[in-house]
Amino acid sequence: MLPFQYVRADSPDQAVAAARGGDAGYIAGGTTLVDLMRLEVMRPKALIDITGLALTAIEDLGGGAVQIGALATNTEVAYHPLITGRFPALSEALLSGASPQLRNMATVGGNLLQRTRCPYFRDGVSPCHKRVPGSGCAALDGSTRSHAVLGTSPRCIATHPSDMCVALVALDAIIHTQGPQGDRAIPIADFHTLPGDHPEIETVLAPGELVTRVELPATPFAARSRYTKVRDRASFSFALASAAIALDLSGGPGGGTIRDARIAIGGLATKPWRARDAERVLIGQPATLDVFRRASAIALDGAAPRTDNAFKIELGRRTVLRALQRGAS
Ligand code: SF4
Repeated sequence: MLPFQYVRADSPDQAVAAARGGDAGYIAGGTTLVDLMRLEVMRPKALIDITGLALTAIEDLGGGAVQIGALATNTEVAYHPLITGRFPALSEALLSGASPQLRNMATVGGNLLQRTRCPYFRDGVSPCHKRVPGSGCAALDGSTRSHAVLGTSPRCIATHPSDMCVALVALDAIIHTQGPQGDRAIPIADFHTLPGDHPEIETVLAPGELVTRVELPATPFAARSRYTKVRDRASFSFALASAAIALDLSGGPGGGTIRDARIAIGGLATKPWRARDAERVLIGQPATLDVFRRASAIALDGAAPRTDNAFKIELGRRTVLRALQRGAS
């Protein structure tokens, strides 16, 4: 591991000030960052330790909305009654990720900023625009089984790894930040960026901008939300395909008209992916298997497979269908 400066912050103001003007990173649970620093894939010159900040609370905002501090652990969020009762897709997504030990350490803020599992990014030597801009992309002519089919660019086809973020997209979450230019509230759908010409940029965060909390607004579809994940083994494995759905139904379980819907896709795209066209197929229709089939059939429209990952398109459609069936049952 390369040498770095260590600074412990006692307040968000102090953390943001310490990060100003330098090649600095924030560290909390460290479950991604420490790995990548050991591999010398990430090389911050300074680490700002934010574990002492008062950003751990999970609070009822009234009217059905909930606020999660950026330093709440994945475990705390997954089992909190405000989350399991009102936003079940978020709990299911968190419990489908990593291992219990990692979930006990990993924070919500860190989960938002997870780096890709593309093996060429992590090996430290292959050409990789994300790790070394301008160096190339070894995946384009390499093994692509785990890579993305949606949102790719000629410079990067890496899959976004987070389960949590897919659920947050389906729940219309809002990311609150504090930075050198002040505070911001960023809709989750706008938080992550497509690789385009700059795969090294993964979010809209400015240098030194700190995620402080995640807001889950009250919506009529949040309570009937589900997360379905397909992977190579039953635990401690990243998604080959996943879907977070949320439904507002006029009737009870198994029936009624779909008043509103959200469909978000994971394991298949370069960022947590919202399937808006598929949502439109659902709205105003009866909650039937036939309607769910029609929506899932177009959920991956525009997908661009490579040599090893064409199977993920049908897998993704079936995952969306399964999630919708679970949501309506
Ligand atoms: Fe790097 Fe992206 Fe190519 Fe992977 S897919 S090698 S992360 S540029």
